[in-house]
Amino acid sequence: MTFELSDRVQAVPPSGIRRFFEIAEERDDVISLGVGEPDFATPWAARDAAITSLEQGKTSYTANRGKRELREAIADYVADRFELGYDPDEEIIVTAGASEAVDLAFRAFVNPGDTVAIAQPAYISYEPGVIFAGGEVLSVPTREEDDFRLTVEGLEEAGAADADVLVLCYPNNPTGAIMTEEDLKPIAEFARENDLTVFSDEIYAELTYDGEHTSIASLEGMRERTIVFNGFSKAHAMTGLRLGYALGPADAIGAMNKIHQYTMLSAPTTAQYAALEALDTCDNDVAEMVEEYDRRRRFVLSRFREIGMDVFEAKGAFYCFPEVPEGFTAEEFAEGVLREQGVAVVPGDVFGDVGEGHLRVSYATGLEDLRKALNRIEAFVADHA
Ligand code: PLP
Repeated sequence: MTFELSDRVQAVPPSGIRRFFEIAEERDDVISLGVGEPDFATPWAARDAAITSLEQGKTSYTANRGKRELREAIADYVADRFELGYDPDEEIIVTAGASEAVDLAFRAFVNPGDTVAIAQPAYISYEPGVIFAGGEVLSVPTREEDDFRLTVEGLEEAGAADADVLVLCYPNNPTGAIMTEEDLKPIAEFARENDLTVFSDEIYAELTYDGEHTSIASLEGMRERTIVFNGFSKAHAMTGLRLGYALGPADAIGAMNKIHQYTMLSAPTTAQYAALEALDTCDNDVAEMVEEYDRRRRFVLSRFREIGMDVFEAKGAFYCFPEVPEGFTAEEFAEGVLREQGVAVVPGDVFGDVGEGHLRVSYATGLEDLRKALNRIEAFVADHA
């Protein structure tokens, strides 16, 4: 017997990067600049708190929305870092990674046929999330000449005024772009004027290397129409512990919790203990990791320029987004440099058509490997000049 797949599942194409993993498996000397996760281990104090919680047998479910103590710590943290005020009882939900928060939001607020405008290039999960929820995707291209920031002009050109939801992610995966308060203000105005719900994925907020991160939800009139996603995977190097959260008005978080309580019950308990400790005592660990990412960022950008590949000044997350040299598509370059030099990078078009001609290069890898990888990319470019 074969299973009959649902139309929604069939509508989502297989991941564009699987083939690259298969090629990478053929060699044993591959340096991967392809992954989007920290190379650091979770700060020890957070791991220790998780271990202690296990030793003490704290292995039951928590409240659906997450441990109250953790929600309080999150409320304090976002107030302190991003000037965001959310009530721990009603306006915060702890989820299994930011991924679950993103999925809950699509399912809670997108009706079949609704249009979801996505600033692209974009993180690969948004589009499938919209399709699984029965919505229609509207791509809103961002451009290199705008440093990949979202602009009102771009929104207008794409027809986003008629959309129901706008998804944005700054600092951005895959480009490394950030948006300042001044950049966000006109976007907020556009959202208010056109009555858009905004999903703001701020999982890379701590990884901002130029100034401070501003949340669009902190701008006038935006709190009531915005859901913010954040989590512990990136800044706290906790990808495998699967812990994230969403912030929003009480009725919206209540709606997300309705799905969460039937599909997840509660986010992983051990991870909640780790996260509580991370917020309580691990600021220095985060600061050290951020400093190291910044050092790598500057190194990688300057090496690409030396090699003669154009690259815009990425200022956030742990990615940069160089242009491939003339004569290559993004996929041809990525496949060539993997087969011939054993360096894995991700072709930019995986993140939407607008990413064609670029590569996503992650610097969540030690400096020594980054040095070797950039030397190999240089050799590849020279061989094909
Ligand atoms: N949002 C963005 C922009 C990401 O890049 C990622 C992971 O790569 C996620 C969300 C998912 O994060 P989590 O591990 O918290 O599910």
